[in-house]
Amino acid sequence: MQPWPDDLPLFAPVERCIYCGARERKLTDEHIVPYGLYGRSVLPAASCRECADIINREIEEPLMRGSLLAIRQFFNMPTRKRNKPRPTHQNVTLRTREGVERTVRVPIDKAPTYVFGFSLPVAGYLAGRPEVEEIYVRGEAVCTNPSVTREAAKAAEGEALKLLEIDQQAYMRFLAKIAHGFTVGFAGVDAFEHRLPPLILGRQAQGRSPNVSATHLIGWDYLPEEPFVADDMRMAYVPLLYGTGTVHTIRLRLFGRFGMPAYLIVAGPGVACSA
Ligand SMILES: [Zn+2]
Repeated sequence: MQPWPDDLPLFAPVERCIYCGARERKLTDEHIVPYGLYGRSVLPAASCRECADIINREIEEPLMRGSLLAIRQFFNMPTRKRNKPRPTHQNVTLRTREGVERTVRVPIDKAPTYVFGFSLPVAGYLAGRPEVEEIYVRGEAVCTNPSVTREAAKAAEGEALKLLEIDQQAYMRFLAKIAHGFTVGFAGVDAFEHRLPPLILGRQAQGRSPNVSATHLIGWDYLPEEPFVADDMRMAYVPLLYGTGTVHTIRLRLFGRFGMPAYLIVAGPGVACSA
């Protein structure tokens, strides 16, 4: 697995929480992409403890230890806990015809591994749809080790193999967090209206209601040029001309080698600068 590009710039300290705007609280460095997914880009002094805790507890921990765990182990992705030995086994869930589930421990090289993504329409913001919508989102998953999975299915002996449980809401918030951080880094914290933080924090900004749907800001990357090497995890910052102004967007692709979708994520409209 190719890591993120080496040539990402060093971002300047933000000196403000990029999620809630707090300046007075103690600010910590923000890892835009988790270290456990090879992320190396950091926004210095960019998140307060309160927001970092929400993101860690509600987004990153559940994903890194849940639906992204197997794929991280498959690709031998880094772990923060250097002294802790890497896990050698993984839980696989089996389900009988009667619907009873049981979990067995299997060696990691015998565990089915999947990457996943979501087929989305173009972000509602760009397509002119309402802020709140109910849209059917199709999940996509690709097995990275078919022969191992066939063996595991055979060993399941009549029981069904439960392959993957995806927390869609956490994954959408995760994509939003990456896009927001990169936009702050590339465009500057004051260059755009921050539309993603309420989605990232799972809490609505004051004076705005109701909750904006994730599909309003996160959607299919319809841009014609394909700047990504297919087997990389890649991102690109793209200010789009939209109406009479600019909208700041991030193109993001994870697990492109397996054909997982590329996303175009709206961080927010540009703030007109007075000269
Ligand atoms: Zn904050």
